[in-house]
Order: sequence, then C-alpha cells, then structure tokens
Amino acid sequence: MAEFTLELNDDQKQVRDWLHGFAADVIRPAASEWDEREETPWPVIQEAAKVGIYSLDFYAQQFFDPTGLGIPMAMEELFWGDAGIALSIVGTGLAAVGVLANGTEEQIGTWIPQMYGDPDDVKVAAFCSSEPDAGSDVASMRTRAVYDQAKDEWVLNGTKTWATNGGIANVHVVVAVVDPELGSKGHASFIVPPATPGLSQGQKFKKHGIRASHTAEVVLEDVRIPGHCLLGGKEKLDQRLARARERAASGGERVKNAAMATFEASRPAVGAMAVGTARAAYEVALDYAKTRTQFGRPIIDNQGIAFQLADMRTQIDAARLLVWRASWMATTGKPFTSAEGSMSKLYASETAKKVTAQAVQILGGNGFTREYPVERMHRDAAIYTIFEGTSEIQRLVIARTLSGMPIR
Ligand SMILES: Cc1cc2nc3c(=O)[nH]c(=O)nc-3n(C[C@H](O)[C@H](O)[C@H](O)COP(=O)(O)OP(=O)(O)OC[C@H]3O[C@@H](n4cnc5c(N)ncnc54)[C@H](O)[C@@H]3O)c2cc1C
Repeated sequence: MAEFTLELNDDQKQVRDWLHGFAADVIRPAASEWDEREETPWPVIQEAAKVGIYSLDFYAQQFFDPTGLGIPMAMEELFWGDAGIALSIVGTGLAAVGVLANGTEEQIGTWIPQMYGDPDDVKVAAFCSSEPDAGSDVASMRTRAVYDQAKDEWVLNGTKTWATNGGIANVHVVVAVVDPELGSKGHASFIVPPATPGLSQGQKFKKHGIRASHTAEVVLEDVRIPGHCLLGGKEKLDQRLARARERAASGGERVKNAAMATFEASRPAVGAMAVGTARAAYEVALDYAKTRTQFGRPIIDNQGIAFQLADMRTQIDAARLLVWRASWMATTGKPFTSAEGSMSKLYASETAKKVTAQAVQILGGNGFTREYPVERMHRDAAIYTIFEGTSEIQRLVIARTLSGMPIR
C-alpha cells in the first residue's frame, strides 16, 4: 500500500516539466494567431507529433499512470498554454478513448493509428454524439444505424452537431441508435473510415472561445460502412441489447449506473483543462498586479486586489485537488458514491469562468483588449461549463447520486 502523498514522483515531474516547456515555448506564443484565424493549428499539432505529445503512446502512458494523475497533469499543462490549441491536440484522444473503451483489439490496432497519422502527415479524429435536438438529453438522439444483413454493412443516417474536428477528421466515431425502444441503452458506436461516401461537414461554427479548435456539424446520408466498423462487434452488441431489454423490464438501474461510472471517470480530465486555463489567467493577473502602479503603489497593495488573488489561487488549488481525487478514484477503481467526477468538473469549470473574469478586471482596460491573453482565456473558459455535460447537468447528477431521488 503506497503512503499517502500529494507529491508528484520524479517521472511525473519530468513529464510535467517537459509538457510545460512545450506549452510555454510552442503553444502559448501561437495562441493569439490561431484564435484570430479560427483554424485548426496544423503546424502546432505536427510539432506536438514530432516531439511525441500528439500520439496514442503518450496518452496511453499517462492513462496507465497508477496514481491516476498522468492525464490531469498533462491536460493542465497543455491547456495552461492555450485552450483552443490544446483541444486541437487532445481532441483526437476523445475519439480514441471511444474506440479504446468499446472496440476490439483488432479495431484498436486498425483505427487508432489512422486517427493520429504520423508526424509527417498528421491526422485528427472526431467523436460525434451530440445532435441538434439531443445535447444534454442524449437519449433523444435520432441518428439511425440500420444493419443490412445481406451485405454485412451498417447504414447511417442523421445529423451530428458540435463535433470537435467534425468533417476534417480522418476517422469519425459516430454514436447512433440501433434500437429506438431502449433510449440511450439502444445506442452503439461506429467507425466511419476515411473518405467514406455520404459523410460531409455541415456548418463550421464561429465560436466565442477555443477558436483554434474546429467545431462543426457532421451530416450522414446513407453512409455505408462494413460490419466490422461496429465497435465491439455484432455479437457483443446483440448480447448487450438483450441484457438491456431484460433490465429495462426490471427497472434498468444497473445499466444506468455503468454509463454514469464512465462519465465520472472522464469528467475530471475536463476539470483539469479548466484548471490549466484558470491557472494561466491567475498568473498573468498576479504579475500584472505586482507591476501596475496607481496612486503611487502597485495595485496589489490594495486588499481589494490582493484578496481577489488569494481567493483565485485558493479556488484553483481546491479545483485541482477535486480533479486529482476523482482521477485517483477512477484509476484505483473506487466507486463514485458521491459523483466525485462530476463534482470535480463542476467546481473546476465554474472556477475557471470566475477566475478568468477576475483576471480581466484586475488588468483593467488592458484586460479588455487582445493585447493581453486574459481576454482570450476568459472567452475560452466559458466552454468548460458547457461541454462534457453542462454545470446544470453536473448538479443534477450530483444531487441524484447524493439523494437517490429522481430529481428533474
Ligand atoms: C465547442 C464545443 C465542442 C463540443 N465538442 C463535442 C464533441 O466533440 N462531440 C460531441 O458529441 N459533442 C460536443 N459538444 C456538445 C456538448 O457536449 C453540448 O453542447 C452539451 O452537452 C450541451 O448540449 P446543448 O448545447 O444541446 O445544450 P442543451 O442541452 O440544449 O442545454 C441548454 C441549457 O439548458 C440546460 N439544461 C438542459 N437540461 C437541463 C435540466 N434537465 N436541468 C437543468 N438545466 C438543463 C443546460 O444546462 C444549458 O444551460 C461540443 C460543444 C461545444 C460548444
């Protein structure tokens, strides 16, 4: 049994410092340009691929860190550099996790390398679940996947929205309804291979923040994919659907809990992204408060400023501890009896929004301009309370978990 410690070990510190160097030297200097261009920063992704940060190996290493801190530490450092660029670097990982979680060994080996490409020809991947009428309410998804037994093909039809890397991805992972009677338990995930006819990009969104990250609709019109593109395979799907039907008849509680556990394990990573952005804005504000002089003294000499900075730092550290706790719980298999994963995402994302707004205020007029990075960080921070479950949905999950009541 390991002794209790919150200190990173030497290997973790080395990785953290390496990532921090990349974030400081490569990501941060490029942040403003790609935010203005509102385009995927391919050269930065390529640079990340060359040094080994944009690769499955890197994420696998962090993911299998036995303390659980590998992923949150990596997310915090990359998003400290810049949220839009960092999401362009880690967005493929969201799709890769979809394959790792549900795919067979063969599917993992075939598709994940195609998601990343190689350093001389980098590719990205997209995970497409949300739809225009199915955001928080995932169960109302309408994209259909129908099996054509004669050809051993699946036929996908529907419109996905908000897909990070949607339409520009080499590989799309698409969640679709295979049994409409079963709600979210009747969903399955599919690989849409590169250049499959029928898949096209709909509108690309012009966003408030994380503008270097590509977000778009994905339209699926009679997209035919081979049977082997169903993640996990047909036999496993049929067994799962049969179990879901049985459980639906007897209350459906266990299936629901399994899905919730997956979210609890993935949400701390988003919390860590929020911690990175919050920390970045806090550091800029602290420096500025120490050097900006008004009334003959640095503005930090005023308690009104100094106490804000004290609160900002306290909340950032508290957010990180919640994230680390939840990540440690996920890795060590502890049950999320109080929705600790959702708690970490809720608190960290709300902290990022608050702290970045305070940073803008502390920089005064400069904070309101694009000459200083806190303006961008404040816009970027707004995403954390929206994607991977809004703050309201996190509160719903936490309240239901704590109370055992079907709170609406
Ligand atoms: C930049 C960006 C990137 C994204 N990337 C991806 C991606 O890669 N793949 C993907 O599949 N999706 C992605 N999403 C989608 C994201 O997960 C959804 O936007 C999110 O789940 C919210 O859904 P919605 O936008 O439809 O909002 P809605 O669900 O319509 O919610 C609108 C408002 O109502 C509130 N609300 C809804 N239901 C309740 C309730 N029961 N109680 C209280 N309040 C409620 C919400 O909290 C929110 O404030 C992305 C979104 C954005 C903006």
